[in-house]
Amino acid sequence: MIGKALVGVRTRQWAALCVGLLVCSAAQAVAAAECPGHPDALGTSRTLVVDPRAHPRIGTMQYPETLPLEDHEVVLTFDDGPLPRNSNQVLEILAAQCVKATFFTIGSMALAYPDGVRKLHDAGHSIGTHTQDHPLTMDRMSVERVRQEIDDGIASVKSVLGDDAALAPFFRIPGLARADAVEGYLASQGIQTWSADFLADDWRHISSSRVYELAINRLEDKGRGILLLHDIQARTAAALPRILNELKARGYRIVHVVPATAEQPATPTEPQQWQLHPVSEYVAISHWPKIPNFVFAAADMLPGPSLSDLDWQDGQLMPPAELSERAKRGVPLPREAPWPRQSELAPDSAAAALPIPAQTLFEIQEGSYAAIAMPSRHADQPVRAEGATGDVGKLTSADAGDSRATGGKHHGRARKLGASRMSGRGSKLAAHAGRHGPKHLVQVKKVARSGSLRNDL
Ligand SMILES: [Zn+2]
Repeated sequence: MIGKALVGVRTRQWAALCVGLLVCSAAQAVAAAECPGHPDALGTSRTLVVDPRAHPRIGTMQYPETLPLEDHEVVLTFDDGPLPRNSNQVLEILAAQCVKATFFTIGSMALAYPDGVRKLHDAGHSIGTHTQDHPLTMDRMSVERVRQEIDDGIASVKSVLGDDAALAPFFRIPGLARADAVEGYLASQGIQTWSADFLADDWRHISSSRVYELAINRLEDKGRGILLLHDIQARTAAALPRILNELKARGYRIVHVVPATAEQPATPTEPQQWQLHPVSEYVAISHWPKIPNFVFAAADMLPGPSLSDLDWQDGQLMPPAELSERAKRGVPLPREAPWPRQSELAPDSAAAALPIPAQTLFEIQEGSYAAIAMPSRHADQPVRAEGATGDVGKLTSADAGDSRATGGKHHGRARKLGASRMSGRGSKLAAHAGRHGPKHLVQVKKVARSGSLRNDL
């Protein structure tokens, strides 16, 4: 009841929003006209006729182009059917809303449930194919296997329909496992490869509410596009009525896509309409230029750089004669290019000169207790940290002092590391100590010396 009331409110809001907007009124009029007996139906706002040869690959999840939809236009697609129980339910829900969709049927499923495919046709949906046996490895298959899967799937569905024209030259690769060879073969047959613009993850083990949320939220992100669903899934059938109601409430319109024929030419479109976000001076280019496929004609290898190629003295580019001439005339000499100089490498023994941490570093003041939130394996072994926060100062100053004394350059880093690691611990330790007190604590001093403190945190 609450759901119905909510939809009612949203519908009224939408109606109010549409007052004065001819576009909305027109869309609603079309929906009502197309769905007699269902005045509140979402309906199908228009039919888009496409030429697969002109646009062989669509769906921004994988390709630069997608269907030339207007803002708030949606194309529904359903894969993997037919499977009577759930597919029939999906068909009934679509019929009640007068929504036309595109179904990508599997050849073996069509042979197993021929009535399911005929029902799709009778209801006026577009029927594409989705291979014969739904392999998820088309990106790794031989071209022969790819052809066989595609051809067999088409042959199976055609045999069930008994009318070649009833099948659209639309194809979706199982698992969207695209490969050049697959797309190349499909294009050579005049078949359009359909990816999608967004999914609702309805093949995963999620609730129907989650399917609904993902469908709506992802559509809202893009504003229009091709939604990929699965009519064989019970959760999809359960989510579909809510999805369709929400689409209507939010002012989305359903577009039915059909292939161009001699009698029905493609809907006129501009090339940029096939891009979800056409390139303009206001939109950043989202598709970077492809890196060309270099063909290496010869296997010859270029010579590797020799040490002399890296000679820093090349930085002095002016010939010596000109340099001496300039010097004579008092013309300032060009500055040497600021390239890296060869520098003396410190001898191995230099490591011995690094400061040794002072003993005082690990001494923690008596009386101030703190503890660490230990991982579960140490849950019964709390830690006593004495004066952890106070030691931060001790660590950095002691370390920095030693560094300066030995002329080292790393005291800045030590200060940073010391401050961030130790103060972080200190606050955690202090917080824990406040709750548990000193009774069950062990000295953090030991842990710090053994070097295991950081891992245990
Ligand atoms: Zn599939």
